[in-house]
Amino acid sequence: MKLVWLRNDLRLDDNPALHAAYQQGLAVRVIYIATPKQWQDHNEAPAKLAFRSQALKSLAGKLAERGIEFELLETESFKDIALLLSDYCLQQGVTDLWFNRETPLHEQARDQSVTEQLKSLNINCHTCNADLLVTKAVINLQGKPYKVFTPWYKAWLKQLNNQDNQPLTAPQPTGNTVSAQLGNTDLPGGSHFRDDLWPATEEAALERLGKFCHRSLEHYSEHRDFPAINGTSTLSPYLASGLVSPRRCLMAIQQTAFEEGKDWRESVWLRELGWREFYRYLMVNFSHISQGKPFKKTPEQWPWQQNPALLKAWQTGNTGFPIIDAAMRQLLSTGWMHNRLRMLVASFLCKLMLIDWREGERFFMLHLIDGDFASNNGGWQWSASTGCDASPWFRIFNPTAQSQKFDADGKFIAKFLPELAGLDNKQIHNPSAEIRKERGYAEPVIDYKAMRERAINALK
Ligand code: FAD
Repeated sequence: MKLVWLRNDLRLDDNPALHAAYQQGLAVRVIYIATPKQWQDHNEAPAKLAFRSQALKSLAGKLAERGIEFELLETESFKDIALLLSDYCLQQGVTDLWFNRETPLHEQARDQSVTEQLKSLNINCHTCNADLLVTKAVINLQGKPYKVFTPWYKAWLKQLNNQDNQPLTAPQPTGNTVSAQLGNTDLPGGSHFRDDLWPATEEAALERLGKFCHRSLEHYSEHRDFPAINGTSTLSPYLASGLVSPRRCLMAIQQTAFEEGKDWRESVWLRELGWREFYRYLMVNFSHISQGKPFKKTPEQWPWQQNPALLKAWQTGNTGFPIIDAAMRQLLSTGWMHNRLRMLVASFLCKLMLIDWREGERFFMLHLIDGDFASNNGGWQWSASTGCDASPWFRIFNPTAQSQKFDADGKFIAKFLPELAGLDNKQIHNPSAEIRKERGYAEPVIDYKAMRERAINALK
């Protein structure tokens, strides 16, 4: 029997491991392995796990229509998987295992030990790429990995342009169905998620991609910084759990550009997919960032301060800065936050509160439905200026000015902070003390000007 082990690739479409195993034409079974202890250590969000449970349920049904059995296995941690899989393969008569590679350090170590263990039992392991657009090493003229995004992006784009990017087709229903073990896809640790916002199926992901390309892609560069406008794709949860492939996104970009007579290589949205891939590239080439360390090794002794009261105000959306609080409440109530706001709340935590970026990284992972180790780590290190090609240390966002610029009429604030709804566009960004009192809204927990000065002095 042939076995396919799914991880961050919960789809039929453009799934190289599944495609390769299915092409063999022999009995194929698909497994997913729950590792609750490891997920806890990795701060996986309950909402993300619940999203994945739903995605697996839908996938198991579709696999059954194709004559493919699905089984959910469970063990504590990654380190136990090699043993679990070798026992399973021996019991089930598995001759070959396929999986798609992942980039973070723990995942790579897990896969290495599985491969070695199965090899010792004469079981073949085949690995494929499902997560990256470019797998060929992108290196600079000195033969070293890039550390700056723009030259890396140019080299990456060149490679993308010179290779075949055709997505693989999904296995088709055979009429030869098996019974789907639908009761069996609940992942431990999962809890409620907003399935009205994030329908967890592959079809929903492809539909979202199609609508985004036809309605919003054209205006993406003008709209993407305004959280009240539905101007970005909101595909991140689907990309993070692999319900849609980056190659399928690239194909949609190319098709849309072709229809509009444009050059797909100039797509601003492709550049964002480029950031996703750049952070994975950094993780592979500079593995210390996978270990809770800053990319730049020198600022290890940055002036981070412990301040549980400020941290709590930030985490719960009670800082008294409306745009920051609305953003944090968007995260808490929907599991997602707009990119401009992620940058704002991160700058607020690391630079104005001088709280270690790792606190923010952890809190985001615990709540994001799109939690993605590489992008989250990259985003936090960029914001804290500890990262590769990061925001300069003296760049500290003024939350009120940013609010006035990117949510001018306060529509976003009013949606997530209903206590401030109806205020005019002068008051809503920074309400007076009377209004705060009247509406039961927090006083600012920090003095922006003083804290900015403190940060500049400390970071200098
Ligand atoms: P779109 O604008 O439509 O972009 C399309 C896709 O490109 C996204 O779905 C995402 O996969 C990728 N992408 C876009 N911007 C970035 C970026 N700056 N870095 C990396 N990939 C990007 N993204 C995550 O997917 N998971 C995270 O855990 C995560 N944590 C972040 C933490 C911080 C502090 C910051 C500043 C950014 C973080 N991002 C993260 C990146 C970005 O905010 C989200 O990818 C984006 O907001 C998702 O919305 P979208 O799908 O509508 O994006």
